[in-house]
Amino acid sequence: MSSLQVNNISKSYQLDNKELNVLNDISISLDSGDFLTILGPSGCGKSTLIRCICGMETPDSGEILIDGKPIDGIGPERLMVFQDFNQLFPWKTVEENIVFPLKLNNVSNNKVELNEIAEEFMDIVNLKQFRNAYPNQLSGGMRQRVAIARSLALNPKVLLMDEPFGALDAQTRAILQKELYQLWEKFKTTIIFITHNVQEAIILGSKIIVLGLMPATVKFETTNTIPYPRMPETKEFMSLWKELYGHLETKRF
Ligand code: ADP
Ligand code: MG
Repeated sequence: MSSLQVNNISKSYQLDNKELNVLNDISISLDSGDFLTILGPSGCGKSTLIRCICGMETPDSGEILIDGKPIDGIGPERLMVFQDFNQLFPWKTVEENIVFPLKLNNVSNNKVELNEIAEEFMDIVNLKQFRNAYPNQLSGGMRQRVAIARSLALNPKVLLMDEPFGALDAQTRAILQKELYQLWEKFKTTIIFITHNVQEAIILGSKIIVLGLMPATVKFETTNTIPYPRMPETKEFMSLWKELYGHLETKRF
């Protein structure tokens, strides 16, 4: 059974008494364990699409199914990691940021068990020695690692990521890409990752979709069979890059 199905969703916003058609008949089908990267020009509707899948927005038409069941608002089986470095609870330490959502979602009432889960995930993102640090004592890359760890600790069916590395410097970005890929290999969580960076889409995605200009439609989709580690200087990487780039439309505002 497919773990995620987006069937013919469309969405408009009202802006200045005019209808702004943002998503137009989008369909996506993912199997459990797929890593989908979605590329699209700025302002085309990428965040709107992922917010619909998360349940933060409701499509005007169409449906979104997880394991065959329609989603109903937000839920712990679909968690989102944002671009913003300020998505953690600023008054909680690294450890508390991981433990709190576990408590909230009744993963366990047992303090020892909760601490064990937090321990495992702090270790996975290499932040054990920062367990007592507050978010404002961490770099952007470290904060994104905590955001990823606290989501994965809840064992979601789908991890949604809206340009999570978009505000990082190039070097940190490359490190986090590698770490995320390794986490995906370990946990095989189904991931949807939005980016407007073609290279990032190829490095991470087992499936890649290109959206067109607003109102967004699926313009192109492909599976990515380049073996890992994916090196941009190889022939197959360059040829996929050219193909994807060719499908990416741009518009001047
Ligand atoms: P992307 O993430 O691809 O840059 P978005 O999904 O954020 O694009 O936005 C797509 C379009 O929808 C933009 O024109 C934006 O102004 C508009 N939009 C997004 N959210 C709202 C909203 N809540 N109300 C009205 N318009 C919105
Ligand atoms: Mg966006």
